[in-house]
This record gives sequence, structure tokens and C-alpha cells, in this order.
Amino acid sequence: MSNNQKNSTFFISDLHLIPSRPQLIQLFLSFLDEISGKADALYILGDLFEFWIGDDMIYKRAGTPYLPIIKKLKALSESGVNLYFQQGNRDFLAQQKFATATGAELLPDQKVINLSGTPTLLMHGDTLCTDDTSYQRMRRIFRIKLIQKLFLSLSPEKRSNIAGNTRKAIKNKAPKKAYNIVDVNQLEVEKVMREAGVLQLIHGHTHRPAVHEFELDGKPAKRIVLSDWIDKACYLKLESGHFVSVINE
Ligand code: MN
Repeated sequence: MSNNQKNSTFFISDLHLIPSRPQLIQLFLSFLDEISGKADALYILGDLFEFWIGDDMIYKRAGTPYLPIIKKLKALSESGVNLYFQQGNRDFLAQQKFATATGAELLPDQKVINLSGTPTLLMHGDTLCTDDTSYQRMRRIFRIKLIQKLFLSLSPEKRSNIAGNTRKAIKNKAPKKAYNIVDVNQLEVEKVMREAGVLQLIHGHTHRPAVHEFELDGKPAKRIVLSDWIDKACYLKLESGHFVSVINE
């Protein structure tokens, strides 16, 4: 059972773990050791993985490099840390079986939590980037259940190839997109916050860690953007009602 004295909640996103970067995986495993016993809860707000080709991989050879991560997350959740997982645009195929294997609760794309008395909206953040219309079009296609079913019916090797090619295509396109196009759209931010009835939003995805303060319908509002991981464990921590942020600079 969780120890009520701990009182700290961690938020992370955009680690982009991939077997070809074992040092990054090690950094994450050490981070989990570090927070075990200190954390009440860990929220993973998407893109934990660079790509995830389906939960069945856990039980196949293609999933072997991921097993230490899954085992460590499971140990963390069994130690009494409440573990939550929200899908990102890279790992939206991490679904219920992944959640069960890790002991995480799978969160919907938009989730409002009560954070020390402040209703707070949690999102991965990609849906806020509405100016990037070509991305949003692609996202809609990837989220079609039938398309996912067809993809999951392929062998893990074929799926890995497709995922790898998609990553390359996105990478080649990325430098051509204007800086502001791949950031969130402020009107969309305000719309989703208004609809969710919150004045506080935490998200990742853009790799632009910051705290943005603005006014929403005459009230002070806050948008906290999580950092991606490059060579450091980056997180947002809420401890006794105060935010502490560690970011890649
Ligand atoms: Mn993302």
C-alpha cells in the first residue's frame, strides 16, 4: 500500500526509448529506481517509446529489448506507486495489454485530475498543434481502428519496417516545417481548457519545456510543457503543492 508521507507526483513524457539507445533505457531504469519509495504517482504523458508496434510484441522476440522496462514499471506499480500512461503519437499502439503488463492505468487522450486541489488537464499535446494540418491528417488515419487492425495483423518485422520508414519520412519533412507550425495553437489550447473546465494544463510532445502563463476568460491560467529526454532524466514534480521542474537545456 502506498505510504501517505511520500506526497510527490512525477510527470514525464517524450523519452523516445528505443533499443538502439541502451544508455537512454538505462537512464530511465535508474530514474524509476530513484523515484521508487519517493513517489505517490508517476504520470507518463506519451512518447515513452520512439515507436511501439503493438502489445503482442511483449510476448515475442521483437519485444525482448523492452522487457527490462516493462518489468521495472511493474515493480514500481507493485511497490505502491500509482502509475498512469497516456499514449503519444509514437506509442499509441501501447494499449490495455501494455497497461496490464506494467500495472499502469491507461488514461484517455484528455484526462482531468485533481492536482493538490487544482483541476489539471493532462494531454500528450500533439492534438494541440492544429496548424500542422498534414500531421493532423496523418494522425486521423493512424487512429482508424481498421487501419490499426491491419497493421497489427502483420509480422513484427514488417511492422518495425513500416514504423522505421514512417519515422524517416517524418524526420525528412520536419526541417521544412516552420517553427510556429509545429508548436501548439493558442486558440486550440484555450478551447480544450475551456471545454475541460480547467485553468491548468500539462502536456509534452513539442519538446519545448516551459511554463506559459496567460489569461483564460479573465482568470490566470497555466500551461506547463514537459521536456523530452536527451541525456538526462527530465521531469516535472509536484511536491507538497509546489512544482519542481528538471529539464534538458
Ligand atoms: Mn509526441
